[in-house]
Amino acid sequence: MTHAPVPKPYILGIHAYAPGKSAASDGRALIKLSANENPLGTSAAALAALESARGEAASYPDPDAKALRTGIAELHGLDPARIVCGTGSDELLNLAAQGFAGTGDEVLFSRHSFVVYDIAARRCGATPVEAPDRDFTADVDALLAAVSERTRVVFLANPNNPTGTWITPAEIARLHAGLPTDVLMVLDEAYAEYLDADAQSVGFALAAAHDNVLVTRTFSKIYGLAAERIGWATGAPALVDVINRIRGPFNVTSSGQKAALAALDDQQFVEASRAHNTAERARFIAAIAALCNHGLAAVQSEANFVLVRFDGEVRAETALNALAEAGYAVRHLPSQGLPDALRITIGKSGDMTRVIAVLRQLCGEAP
Ligand SMILES: *Cc1c(COP(=O)(O)O)cnc(C)c1O
Repeated sequence: MTHAPVPKPYILGIHAYAPGKSAASDGRALIKLSANENPLGTSAAALAALESARGEAASYPDPDAKALRTGIAELHGLDPARIVCGTGSDELLNLAAQGFAGTGDEVLFSRHSFVVYDIAARRCGATPVEAPDRDFTADVDALLAAVSERTRVVFLANPNNPTGTWITPAEIARLHAGLPTDVLMVLDEAYAEYLDADAQSVGFALAAAHDNVLVTRTFSKIYGLAAERIGWATGAPALVDVINRIRGPFNVTSSGQKAALAALDDQQFVEASRAHNTAERARFIAAIAALCNHGLAAVQSEANFVLVRFDGEVRAETALNALAEAGYAVRHLPSQGLPDALRITIGKSGDMTRVIAVLRQLCGEAP
């Protein structure tokens, strides 16, 4: 009798990440408003850097991403020694959990937060613990009440995905102050660049001042480099040291390092992306507000997407299908406890106009 390899039971507890759809059921390509990608694409300078890296394909990348870490440090006023780069910030979130939690430990996060936290907890054998949220927003009191002597890591996305909600610097500070000093607080700031300038550096200040705060950022969203898989984290040297021990030695490609560095230099593109998002998001939220008689409601968002709730006769699934029919993929997340909502990325202006028209027509209103 033969025996098959036996996977760890906690690995079988993972629901593999299900990416958003990008094709209709008949195979037709859809315009993706389902993955929070930048509708303006990528900075021309970053694309040129990608092109220039083609000749280096036979060589391993710089394992320490030194030039990129230096560039990040200069832009944000950080110490490059306190920065580590990752294969997307997803890798860093997983490594943060793995470095500090394992079997018998708990990893805490908010209900309706980023799906990767649950995977990161289970991957290292730890128990994922969800604290209830309030109005789709992280609830600091509920998070603190859920801390036990087994809690090792707390994840908080701010702004949060999939809800788009954001908690104030004072609330972040209150969460941190309420945590035992041996609990790692990971602030996932994938959407921080969409905030007003003065709200952007709160996490950095906490990470500089305390030994138990790690802030993660990404080039996948406002920088428009999702395909290159580049993220980074900053925190106390001892935290960065742990991540460096367990990350892949060549975890960021040469082209990715070059493109990210060039993208950092093109803050004009970042500004344009933020301005586009702020204007189109406001227009979209106003259009949803105009459909409140039909049970549609937009959750207030500080990110590059909006969670639209469907509490009337038009169901989320009906809207999902109508939008696909019109050529748009948006995100339906029943598996995350959001069967009555769609997460819609802020796209190009013309696309947002068409999405609004589809939703208005479903409600029986003139487009
Ligand atoms: C998109 C996203 C990330 C970034 O993932 P990458 O691996 O850097 O592409 C991280 N956290 C949240 C909350 C996100 O929505």
